[in-house]
Amino acid sequence: MTRLLLIGPPGAGKGTQATELAEAFGIPAISTGDIFRYNVKNETPLGLQAKAFMDAGEYVPDSLTNAIVEDRLQEADAAPGFLLDGYPRTTDQVAELDRLLQASGTALDVVVLIVADTDEVVSRLLKRAAEQGRADDTADVIRHRLAVYEEQTAPLIDVYSARGLVVTVDGLGAVATVTGRILDALAERGLRPPVASK
Ligand code: AMP
Repeated sequence: MTRLLLIGPPGAGKGTQATELAEAFGIPAISTGDIFRYNVKNETPLGLQAKAFMDAGEYVPDSLTNAIVEDRLQEADAAPGFLLDGYPRTTDQVAELDRLLQASGTALDVVVLIVADTDEVVSRLLKRAAEQGRADDTADVIRHRLAVYEEQTAPLIDVYSARGLVVTVDGLGAVATVTGRILDALAERGLRPPVASK
């Protein structure tokens, strides 16, 4: 039973670490960004609504975002635990997640904050743009996404810190190094993967 959140600025490596940690703990990594991108690619009604916000580096409205998370958390694989990557990102989303967890009689174990300095995240995002061609990875949109993160998501760190849930991990370095740091920080909180992964 492991319920984790990953928070950090765009480009901090959340997606990569989410995959590693989810595999180690045997829980699904749930990325709202991935769910939106899948829907945009397949031109679903949700994708058509989300696309303009994403391309502009804006957050998709809470009503749409909360609805997809509610659906996803009800799937059977999320019952024993989950790792949320990129959700919640606003205080309204925090309230919604609180409501969902309370309704299922569960709670978060830890919020992992991955920190990385701005120059580093910008250069990572520009590199990803060259490699993957994501529409929201242009220099202007990247700057805007970082500003939106600071304004709307950074305040969540205080909210979860006040609940004693936050562990902060340096996101600089090789993927395996950062994963190791996160696993160590989780172990200090008594959270260990069922099978040793290091
Ligand atoms: P990500 O891959 O997590 O960086 O998400 C890519 C984009 O999807 C974001 O810039 C937003 O437009 C949208 N998105 C992902 N997660 C959320 C969320 N929790 N709330 C609002 N918009 C989101």
